[in-house]
Amino acid sequence: MSDALAAAHRIGPELVELRRRLHRAPELGLHLPDTQATVLAALESLDLEVHTGEGLSSVVAVLRGRAPHDGERPVVLLRGDMDGLPVTEEVDVEYRSERTGLMHACGHDLHVAGLVGAARVLDELRDELVGDVVLMFQPAEEGPGGAEPMIRDGLLEAAGRRVDAAYAVHVYSADHPRGTWFGRPGPLMAAADEVHVVVRGVGGHGSAPERAKDPVPVACEVVLAFHTAVTRRFSVWDPVVLTVGKIAAGTKDNIIPDEAVIDATLRTFSREHRELAHRVVTEVAQGIAAAHGLTAEVTIGNGYPVTVNDEAEFAFARDVVHDLFGAEHWADMDNPEAGSEDMAFVLEEVPGAYLNVSACALEDHTLAEDNHSPRAAFDDSVVPDVAGALAELALRRSRTLAGD
Ligand SMILES: [Zn+2]
Repeated sequence: MSDALAAAHRIGPELVELRRRLHRAPELGLHLPDTQATVLAALESLDLEVHTGEGLSSVVAVLRGRAPHDGERPVVLLRGDMDGLPVTEEVDVEYRSERTGLMHACGHDLHVAGLVGAARVLDELRDELVGDVVLMFQPAEEGPGGAEPMIRDGLLEAAGRRVDAAYAVHVYSADHPRGTWFGRPGPLMAAADEVHVVVRGVGGHGSAPERAKDPVPVACEVVLAFHTAVTRRFSVWDPVVLTVGKIAAGTKDNIIPDEAVIDATLRTFSREHRELAHRVVTEVAQGIAAAHGLTAEVTIGNGYPVTVNDEAEFAFARDVVHDLFGAEHWADMDNPEAGSEDMAFVLEEVPGAYLNVSACALEDHTLAEDNHSPRAAFDDSVVPDVAGALAELALRRSRTLAGD
């Protein structure tokens, strides 16, 4: 067993206790004062440079290595997200959520405990650490997003030099047997953007449509044209998913309304197709409206970008997992997932890798419910593994970055 993994397992019971404390008290969004206080207390005894965010409850802690090295010391970033979800927990455990309507249903409580564990392990093994490590405790992964404001606040320069490589681990309640790590190089998760279209016409009497400009058939045509555009304008090998989840107009059968509204979610897996899709959606809606003498106003909310695993960083991270847990605990993902992830902003700026690990609480993972379900159950016996893996990634990557 690696020193880091052994050290993580020695403090395992404390990390599990920390995870359960967090699990009892989930918080939402950008402001997680209790979670932030818990993290700060857990890091208190360590020699760290700690910064807290303004306008959000982030914690950035810099841990300096002490291994001798000539020249510039590399910087590795490790990330853990901290927020819960507006879900009422139905998992019957003694540490279940004590806050009605709030639950750590995506396992971010395990991420926080894992990152605190990594900090403690790296503190203990500082003499072996060639570089500096930026510990990123971020709020609002589930929205509206904490990574971007943290980057704006100087996250990537927190150590005094720019971060060279970044890693994150996410736990899953289903998908694979507990203890299986999984991932893929390249695109891992989608960019997710909200598309809002207002087709503007002129209302009137339903008996005299020629005296009005009816937005209803135009909106219907826009929806159909969206689907045509997705199949005709984009390569099938770089998928685009566009779903109109809402279309709304009017009040009564014989009244032509002034406007019709279309809301859609747009998922893409490359920067090129994301940009093209924004253009196509806008042109199609405006062009069809114009063809009928109406106008369309298109707003595309900028969601999270595509989460991309750098090929070399991914290969490195997978090798670390193989070494720590054995190749039999690794599964390649054939396809990306159509979910999206705030870590994408960090991975747009610096190369890195995002890995998944199953924390499935059931013996038969095919019976388990997915993350975000009120019945999503995470087994925290994987927390020391997450802590050990994060610490090992930092230790090893600093060495290779330093050329040692
Ligand atoms: Zn999550």
